[in-house]
Amino acid sequence: MNFDIVTLFPKAFEVIDNLGVITRASERNLINVNLYDLRKFGIGSYRQVDDKPYGGGSGMVLKPEPIYKAYDSIKKLKNSKTLLMTPQGNVLKQYDLSRWASLDQLIIICGQYEGFDERVRFLADEEISIGDYVLSGGEIPAATIINGVTRLLPGTLGDPSSLIDESHNSFLLEYPHYTRPKNFREMKVPDVLISGNHKEIENWRETEKLKRTKNRRKDLIQNNNFYNYDSRDYKEKWFWDF
Ligand code: SAH
Repeated sequence: MNFDIVTLFPKAFEVIDNLGVITRASERNLINVNLYDLRKFGIGSYRQVDDKPYGGGSGMVLKPEPIYKAYDSIKKLKNSKTLLMTPQGNVLKQYDLSRWASLDQLIIICGQYEGFDERVRFLADEEISIGDYVLSGGEIPAATIINGVTRLLPGTLGDPSSLIDESHNSFLLEYPHYTRPKNFREMKVPDVLISGNHKEIENWRETEKLKRTKNRRKDLIQNNNFYNYDSRDYKEKWFWDF
């Protein structure tokens, strides 16, 4: 997987050198992160990349020419998508990460300041927000996507089965985890987990997933997608009676 990132702050991506399994994936060439420094594509001797907004108002806006020039310099692979980081985009979901994990290339354009000239939007296949809040730039959102996609790539995680049960994979949150010791400051590991009875453990985990989701994120199961994606019939009364 190639990540090609258009950014005014390439140094922000040094975080990838300190991210455990993601760093290892990069060292093992499962991913390549190529950074395109917007400043190098800036205009004139000052390498200008931003300007005042037409119509007035506060803040600076990224100019279109440097972004288009940086974009044009990227070698496009066949199986590629271009994402634009913006708080006005579709809110990122686990499902998006798995859709993109089968691509060969993700080109990610990061905004800064007040954002970018509206004409930059034409470069994007998808506009993505990482949540309903505003950050100062698209670098942390882009690093979030690199992280989330990379851990889905075959070979990144030591035990890929850990991807199956996890939160947001099936519209349910994951069950609680415990490790040693059995008794920590009066907080005990549930008996069922030390029972050795695999069937019971599985049932307990399944029930906890439902309980957790219902208590913490009812919105996930009230969502129509939930019914379409999950074959089990959670519309049944027993589920809502928890
Ligand atoms: N004035 C803009 C926000 C600019 S924030 C507005 O109101 O829409 C500056 C840049 O940070 C954005 O261009 C975008 O690239 C990035 N950014 C900020 N918050 C983000 C979020 N929640 N998701 C994705 N990108 C974000």
